[in-house]
Amino acid sequence: MEIDDSEGRIRNIHQDLIDVYGEQGNHDDSDGVRQLLITILSQNVADENTARAAENLFNEYKNYKEIENSDVGRLADTINPAGLPQTKAQRLKRTLTALREHGEKEDYSVDFLGDMEDSNAQEWLEQIKGIGPKTASVLLNFHFDADVIPVDTHVERISKRFRLIPFSASNQKAHDLLNESVPHDIKNSFHKLVIEHGKNNCTARNPTCGNTKLKKYCSRYKHVENGELEPEEFPPEDL
Ligand code: SF4
Repeated sequence: MEIDDSEGRIRNIHQDLIDVYGEQGNHDDSDGVRQLLITILSQNVADENTARAAENLFNEYKNYKEIENSDVGRLADTINPAGLPQTKAQRLKRTLTALREHGEKEDYSVDFLGDMEDSNAQEWLEQIKGIGPKTASVLLNFHFDADVIPVDTHVERISKRFRLIPFSASNQKAHDLLNESVPHDIKNSFHKLVIEHGKNNCTARNPTCGNTKLKKYCSRYKHVENGELEPEEFPPEDL
């Protein structure tokens, strides 16, 4: 099915998402360092596993200094539910070292990123080995309301169903294409709304497709309307 990522169409999708889910709230002003560590734990793993690993982490260690100075084995055991525990333990430690070394008072903070241009903040985060575009943009989007689109599993799936990007696009490609096509002034809001749609209706399996405002954009639903698929079926490319 043909891709249509024209600005007018994206703005219409955005407006219809607002009509369905309402304007999304402002940034999450919880501790940004904690948010960044949780985002690292969440890489390539389901939300429930991230939550378990994060709970273990913040129960086991009293503060960021203890995590940074921890033995890798102990830290890996603690965050085991998140998968790739050794790798993620190194990433947590490296990230804390980078934040502490950047701070003037040997503390741990991400506040300085808020004073940078979004692209510079993204670049600063990505120079830490193990922090890629997705992890960096999750922090910038949620904590700083930056105009970037982190492409998580919901965003990738729905952008494909909405025919904004090809089904064959890798996650990195999806990130590049969406950040190019979605107009700057609605990036942040568009991202939050798509997540809402993914969590509430357009789930990976058993999406609830009754919403007339949104199903008109959907490639999967077009197959259903054309009688090529039953409502519970998925086109091969969406499996
Ligand atoms: S019609 Fe169904 S699959 Fe398509 S975008 Fe809507 S909820 Fe998702």
